[in-house]
Amino acid sequence: MSWPIYRSAYIDAAFVPVHGGELQVILHPVTGAPMAEVMMAGPEEVDLAVQAAARAQREPALQDRARRIEMLRSLQASVLSHEAAIRESVIEEYGAPLARASWVGRYASDCFGHAADLLRDHPFRRTQGSTEVWMEPVGVSALLVPWNSIAGTMCSKLASALAAGCASVIKPSEFSPWQTQAVAVALHEAGLPPGIFNIVSGSGTQVGQALCTHPAVSKVSFTGSTATGKLIARAGVETMKRVSLALGGKSATIVLDDADLATALPMAIAVAFMNNGQACVAGSRLLVPRSRLDEIEEQVRHIVDGLVVGNPRDPATGLGPLASQAQYERVQQFIRRGQAEGARLLIGGEGHPAGLEHGWFVRPTVFADVANDMDIARQEIFGPVLCLIAYDDDQDAVRIANDSPYGLQAYVFSAQAERARRMAGQLQVGSVLINRIAPDLMAPFGGVKQSGVGREFGAAGIDAFLEPKTVVTI
Ligand code: NAD
Repeated sequence: MSWPIYRSAYIDAAFVPVHGGELQVILHPVTGAPMAEVMMAGPEEVDLAVQAAARAQREPALQDRARRIEMLRSLQASVLSHEAAIRESVIEEYGAPLARASWVGRYASDCFGHAADLLRDHPFRRTQGSTEVWMEPVGVSALLVPWNSIAGTMCSKLASALAAGCASVIKPSEFSPWQTQAVAVALHEAGLPPGIFNIVSGSGTQVGQALCTHPAVSKVSFTGSTATGKLIARAGVETMKRVSLALGGKSATIVLDDADLATALPMAIAVAFMNNGQACVAGSRLLVPRSRLDEIEEQVRHIVDGLVVGNPRDPATGLGPLASQAQYERVQQFIRRGQAEGARLLIGGEGHPAGLEHGWFVRPTVFADVANDMDIARQEIFGPVLCLIAYDDDQDAVRIANDSPYGLQAYVFSAQAERARRMAGQLQVGSVLINRIAPDLMAPFGGVKQSGVGREFGAAGIDAFLEPKTVVTI
């Protein structure tokens, strides 16, 4: 059998062979069989890419708002025309169900459209009394991307950096060469001037570290785990890089005692198992009123029992396989730990679902009788494992929700929007979604506590690539 070997970086608007030498095999999430190999780039390619970006940073096209809007529109159109190829790569390499994979292709293109819309009126000249504040591009930016959201994060970060006037080097996860290639081809066909964006895939310790310590890189925009985020913040301090960190989460979904369960619980399960459970914003702790615990347990069990787990290509499938064997094993380990900690399996458990013994399929799992100090309630499991936690009253719900090292997002369901808004005011998180699970992609997104530093998306996302220069005159 043979499979493709991905061995190029994208530097100065050309696909060039990499010399890193280390090969990594990618296994198919549905079958577990080898499907591709990727040759990792190394510091040599990082240096070439950073130099290309540094040259492009002086490009007149990057200084001009109208030209940047044109480039964003070209990227939007090109990515849209490659929607099918991106969707295929997301299904095959990542195991995302068809609906999710289809959304990814469109979303990746929309990122550029949103940035172009915002850029028309973005204020680069501001005033403070009689003082002028010029918002200037921070300079060459490193954009670090996790495996659980390759196309979306490559495009959202590139869109914000370009809107702000920054040339960039994108470092996608080394575990996603097919998705990276599909996006890179789409971006290339937009025909931007050389060096404005470059793409180098490779390991975090080689390529990631080289980028985060490179003296010509001014800004690091990182999305990934909290553990790696800390390494990146430390690595960047030597050259005082500006660092934005979008990190992990253990988000709470709070169902208030007046909520319509028939609406709230399907949404709560959907947001817990979103992206096959591999989402930073997964609502992996479901906080429910003790007074309604029995009926909620019964309904949650029923909804999860009805979830179709299987081939991601089948439109009926709600849950595909996890992305890798490492993810599969991590989830199994947490399911065992939850049982050892005394939580009760409401549904699911260890092992593969019946009939899906190959690949990285897991059983959607809900634990009841969870105490918020158990590991399964505190750590990011990153798979379809939901913790059901009972609370006594609204204050108890807030206390439990906030008792977490993380603070990315929270969801509140209530029949009274004002009551939910009052609760939102007490939650220590970057975003609260009330009676919905779809975010507003033009609004600031990011976390507090160990979920990150800084904000992405919308105008806040553009500002994250700008530095204020204050000009005081008589
Ligand atoms: P990860 O931290 O292992 O890797 C993320 C990126 O950093 C990859 O490109 C990786 O190669 C690189 N990297 C790894 N070690 C590095 C180092 N020492 N120096 C520089 N770069 C390094 O994360 P992951 O496993 O790819 O992604 C999953 C995590 O990302 C989860 O914790 C999830 O919650 C988080 N995430 C957060 C958001 C958000 O917006 N807050 C969105 C998606 C994913």
